[in-house]
Amino acid sequence: MAKILIVGGVAGGATVATRLRRLNEKDDIIMFERDEFVSFANCGLPYYLGGIIQSRDRLIVETIQGLKDKFNIDIRNFSEVIQIDRAHKTIKVKRVKTGEVYEESYDKLILSPGAKPIRIPTPGLDQANNVFSLRNIPDTDKIKAFFDKENPKTAVIIGGGFIGVEMAENFIEQKLSVTIVDLADQILAPLDFEIAKLAQNEMENNGVHFELGTVVSEFRNEGKELLLKNGKVLAADIIILAIGIKPENDLAIQAGLKVGPRGHIITTKTLQAIDEKTGEVTNDIYAIGDAIEVYDFVDDSKTAIALAWPANRQGRLVADHINDLKISYKGSLGSSVVKIFDYIAASTGNNEKTLMRKKVAYDVSYVTRGNHAGYYPGAEEIVIKIIFDSKDGKIFGAQAFGHEGTEKRIDVIATAIKGGLTIDDLPDLELCYAPPFSSAKDPVNIAGYAAGNVKAGIYKNVRHFEIDEIIKNGGFVVDSRTDLEYGIHHIEGAINIPQIEMRNRLGEFPEDKNTPIYLYCNIGHTGYLAVQILKGNGYTNIYNLAGGLRIYSAVYQFDKNEQLPEFHNPEERKATTMNPEIKKLKIDACGLQCPGPIMETFKAMEKMNAGDLLEVEATDSGFQRDVDKWSKSTGNVLVSMEKDGKIYRATLQKGAAPVENAGGQSAGGNANTTIVLFSGDLDKALASLIIAQGARAMGKSVTIFATFWGLNLLRKPNKVKVKKPFVEKMFGWMMPRGPKKMKISKMNFGGAGTLMIKGVMKKKNVRKLEVQLQDALDAGVNFIACTMSMDIMGIQKAELIDGIDYAGVASYLADSEKAGITLFI
Ligand SMILES: Cc1cc2nc3c(=O)[nH]c(=O)nc-3n(C[C@H](O)[C@H](O)[C@H](O)COP(=O)(O)OP(=O)(O)OC[C@H]3O[C@@H](n4cnc5c(N)ncnc54)[C@H](O)[C@@H]3O)c2cc1C
Repeated sequence: MAKILIVGGVAGGATVATRLRRLNEKDDIIMFERDEFVSFANCGLPYYLGGIIQSRDRLIVETIQGLKDKFNIDIRNFSEVIQIDRAHKTIKVKRVKTGEVYEESYDKLILSPGAKPIRIPTPGLDQANNVFSLRNIPDTDKIKAFFDKENPKTAVIIGGGFIGVEMAENFIEQKLSVTIVDLADQILAPLDFEIAKLAQNEMENNGVHFELGTVVSEFRNEGKELLLKNGKVLAADIIILAIGIKPENDLAIQAGLKVGPRGHIITTKTLQAIDEKTGEVTNDIYAIGDAIEVYDFVDDSKTAIALAWPANRQGRLVADHINDLKISYKGSLGSSVVKIFDYIAASTGNNEKTLMRKKVAYDVSYVTRGNHAGYYPGAEEIVIKIIFDSKDGKIFGAQAFGHEGTEKRIDVIATAIKGGLTIDDLPDLELCYAPPFSSAKDPVNIAGYAAGNVKAGIYKNVRHFEIDEIIKNGGFVVDSRTDLEYGIHHIEGAINIPQIEMRNRLGEFPEDKNTPIYLYCNIGHTGYLAVQILKGNGYTNIYNLAGGLRIYSAVYQFDKNEQLPEFHNPEERKATTMNPEIKKLKIDACGLQCPGPIMETFKAMEKMNAGDLLEVEATDSGFQRDVDKWSKSTGNVLVSMEKDGKIYRATLQKGAAPVENAGGQSAGGNANTTIVLFSGDLDKALASLIIAQGARAMGKSVTIFATFWGLNLLRKPNKVKVKKPFVEKMFGWMMPRGPKKMKISKMNFGGAGTLMIKGVMKKKNVRKLEVQLQDALDAGVNFIACTMSMDIMGIQKAELIDGIDYAGVASYLADSEKAGITLFI
């Protein structure tokens, strides 16, 4: 019979104690816990504070009495182990309530003391009486008592890790105004920046504010105010300190056990501690859980992972080892998951940051797929990122963000990593499928296919953080989505050649087939199809934007100042929807990814009459922003926007008079505007586009009649192969090809003036000429290219952009007859 002592009675401690008993009925097992509670669910604490877990008792997985009765374990709570005497194999225990100290001998000693919250000395911190950490039930009780007494309205959470993020959500549930402050430029360190940004955006959609890349430099007014290093001052009724944890290693250090660079107890693969001086393995002392350093399963390097799975697994293995079973802790992957309101963020293995630090070469691949068959109601998207070795397909890690089933996909990949499978094995995984649960090709299979394509060199990736620079340097970036999608939003500087039209529009691509071409779409799939079309037509240097706009726009939101539409507008909605004259239609766009819901809205609106109401349900959170933007630009009215669980419900009213191509209405006004654009100068063309859009916004019908040099505005940016006489060809070479190449009328100074004006436009947020042109087209401005001047200047239709009309002066005169204003620019 052995006498086994355990320090710490929660995740690791309680697991090892019960397994020890299950393996040996006779051993003397004593578990010491400094606090009141053992075997409680610390992972549930934030949800208890948010009111989701309603009963405090539910947090206690097993009571002391229950453990004693079931497992005959001697549990001593309020008992702190304060010293280890390795020579005599004894420990000293302090009874917390009385201060009395006694000794206990051991045959085996297991340390599972966990980790404690870090507290950085900051001016005013000690005087603040509203600062809390969250580690255990007493911490939770303190926060709860503060809530009941002080009824806080504003919360600042310092630290955007798992606990900080969970607390933010739960405080929002309690209707607090919440700000997360973090030194890093992202939340949730196990995720890479762009996946963390998906999570952050979702939190912002739910009202959480962020102050990233800064720290608290002072707690003022007893914690009621926080001064940040970036100069901002935040009001805080309650503050949660969640900047990280450090291992509880006092006992280990005092006992001469070896600790790592960050203070974690070092152990062998059998989880035995090591003597600091001699480096010898201590046969009778084990350490587990948050307090220890572990091997990274990916490459056997040293790491530390403070999560419940490793603590539980290690607890069981130690009990096995003590009972002479053969064990080896194979290392940790750090698989983790966190709820982000209606979304889930999960990860496993190494992320890009870690691999860069380790100087390991890797490739990435993203897929965005429905969590189950799209035709079965309620399908929702999951974005999966896989990081792998392109040489042998080894999977380094994976991250995912999405809805139900997100963590299941990461679990499958974690299993694959532990099983030594490669990305080439992922398509071979035969996973469960029926429409409510998955697709015949599960997102994990698809992730394997996509990564396999990158590994096989079928296409090359360009990353979201490279694309702006490429555009700045004049790179050829093509949006391969439909023009409607492009119209809703696109990467500034990208031209639009839809994948479905690409085979017929190859003339718009650079003549030199070696020129780098960067394609993108929403999620990467259409871009991939476009890559294949170009490859099949002899282009050799093609890149596809990894993750598509889904990733790019998560990182670089199209309009940072954009306000989200108000969620609740029930009164207005009720008034409108109760009118019996008005026809109502409802469409279900749930499960469709951006821009699917907008496309469905557009299609439905086209069939409706002015004044009719359309209710659209969607699960894509981008829909909230897109439908607002779309309705504004098409003259339809967004009557209300509600959120019902995971569903975004928009009610739109079709505008009174249809606008061409928009399924909407004109805002009124009888007079039309016609502009004769004669000039090929940047400034003059800009003026005409701005006036045209302004007039359009006021509901006027607008025609821009482009003649002579004004035709240059409508030229395609790339060389188009057309047969022309030499003189006309010369003309073509001399004239600017499209808005990008146009110069200012005065003070051009060999191009310097034009560059300067473009710089000023950017600074002042004036959209580029080419973007303004597209905006004008999207807004329904009618462009007419003067056929007479085309003839004189030798410009052919193929050289001009799509979506314009061709007519002679008669047509212009007909329009100007109806016009209230006619301008000649
Ligand atoms: C709020 C919160 C939420 C979390 N959510 C998740 C989650 O969702 N998923 C996940 O995987 N992980 C989560 N974790 C982490 C997870 O709880 C830990 O990784 C796990 O509990 C570690 O187990 P452990 O045994 O090492 O330490 P703990 O479970 O912390 O237990 C250590 C115990 O040892 C006691 N102790 C320390 N020193 C002494 C001493 N000298 N004498 C006597 N007793 C001592 C401490 O009082 C403590 O009760 C969460 C943690 C917190 C705090």
